[in-house]
This record gives sequence, structure tokens and C-alpha cells, in this order.
Amino acid sequence: MKIVFLGTGAAVPTKNRNHSSIGLKFDGEIFLFDCGEGTQRQILYTDVSPMKINNIFITHLHGDHILGLPGLLQSIGFNGRTEPITIYGPPETEETIENILKIGYHSINFNIRVCELHTEKPMKIAGTEKYEIYYYPMNHSVPTVGYVFREKKKPQLNLKKAIELGVEVGPKLKRLKDGNPVKTKDGKIVYPEDVLLPPKKGICIGYSGDTTPLKDFGKFLKSLGCRLLIHEATFDSSRKNNALETMHSTVRDAVNIAKIAGVEELILTHISARYDDKMDDYINEVNILNAENDNLNIIIAEDFMEYSLK
Ligand SMILES: [Zn+2]
Ligand SMILES: [Zn+2]
Repeated sequence: MKIVFLGTGAAVPTKNRNHSSIGLKFDGEIFLFDCGEGTQRQILYTDVSPMKINNIFITHLHGDHILGLPGLLQSIGFNGRTEPITIYGPPETEETIENILKIGYHSINFNIRVCELHTEKPMKIAGTEKYEIYYYPMNHSVPTVGYVFREKKKPQLNLKKAIELGVEVGPKLKRLKDGNPVKTKDGKIVYPEDVLLPPKKGICIGYSGDTTPLKDFGKFLKSLGCRLLIHEATFDSSRKNNALETMHSTVRDAVNIAKIAGVEELILTHISARYDDKMDDYINEVNILNAENDNLNIIIAEDFMEYSLK
């Protein structure tokens, strides 16, 4: 599992930071979170394959998070895609996508399924036996949702015990691991609960989108066992007033949420263009907070930064 930061800037792109987008590589698929303008070109500098994007998660409909969609979807169409893509997003995502698809006299040969997230309570929105995705309503100047990606692990097999109970080595062990009872050579039934141990903890990642700091989001991440939080930190703390006015977070705000969530790592993103060639205040604050917090590693995201999860 790997995260590739495709864009880490805020409202206006700079020479160093493109608009927001994050690619998560998992089990042969790409999960794309936000798609700011120029995302498809950023992708070209990485090993993210646009053709492997099956799900796109939009946090909100501000331009710096969606203006890459028309170009990306058209290019995927040019490359002959026929499999559907699902796009998740806040209310009005469906209308926005309809309008996007009208741009440029271009028709695509794949279906786009839009899933609008309306409820005020956090909930699970997608998943398979390998992963699940939750959304959380955030607090920004327009309807905004945060997302949580959680890996699901299968229970572990107590091999020694299975063999002691008479299960032969071979396909029956896999059947047990998949949750099915099996019959031994001497006719005894062995049930999964006799030989299965609790699953190892899967990887769990939270992504805030644009938001003011929400303590309850931190608590929600803790309840899911999140280890990594990607949180917006548009400003350093000396610009708390700018953050309040624009409904964004500061570095310290993001750290506070990470501490409530109990995550091991915090990656700060959505960094204001004002810091482009003068990051000193921002970096100094991160260094101080890293020194203050022994159990938390704070990282400033950069475009094309890759982060591997073990
Ligand atoms: Zn933004
Ligand atoms: Zn925004």
C-alpha cells in the first residue's frame, strides 16, 4: 500500500505545489482523493496509472479539488476505458459531474456512477472483503466530507491447533481460514472458531479535506484505529485569523486533531501559496511540535512525495 501526493497546495497553485490530489495504491487499484486542476499531468511523473482508478473521492466542490476531473476523465476515455468509475462527493456532485462531462465536445465510453453523501452522520460508504471506506461530514465554507480508508484483514489461522484437531495440510486449511467448517479424515467437524485467531490490525488512514479542526473527527478516527492522518494545514499558527476567516486549519490545529485520533503519523497538506518560497515559519512550527510530541511524527507533504505503509 502506497500513498502518492499528486498535489499539496491550496487555492492557487505555485511552481512547487499543484492543487489537491492524493493517490492511494492498494491491491492493484488506485483510489483517488480529490482531483485538482492538473492532476492528470502530475500523475505522469509518478507510477500511478490513471486506468487503474476505479473510485474517486471528492471532499468538496471548490475548484482546487475538482477542476482536474474534466481532463482526467477525458484522457481516460481517450485511452479506451470501458469499465465504470464511481465518484463520491458532497451534495451537488452529480450536477457538477454532468456539467463537467458537457465540456469539450467529448464523449466517453464508460459509465460514471455518482454517489452523493448527504447524511449528517459519519457512515461506511464502500467496501469489499479487503477494505472499507467511511465518510465524515467536515466543517468548511461549503459542504465538505472527510474520508477514512481502512484495510480489512482476514482472521489468522492457528495452524498448530488445526493440525492437532486432525485437519490435513492442504485446501481444507484455506476453507477454515475463509470461515467454513471442514471435516477431518476421521469424520470430526472442525469449526473456524476452533482454530482462528483475531485478525491483525489493517492499515487505517484518515483524510480531512478542507476544514476547521473538528475534535469529533479525531475521536472518530480513534474509534476506527487510524494510524495515519492526512490533515489540511493551510496556515502556520501565526495566521490563525486567516484560518478562521477562510474555514481552514493551522499546523497546530491539525496536530491537536492527530493527538485526539492517537495516530502515529500526521501528514500536513493543502499548504497556502504564501509559503511557496518562504516556508521558514511553517517548518519552524512543525519542528517545535515534532520536538514536543514524542508519540507523533509530523511530516509536511510535498508534490510527488510517496509514503509507504507497512
Ligand atoms: Zn482547497
Ligand atoms: Zn475549499
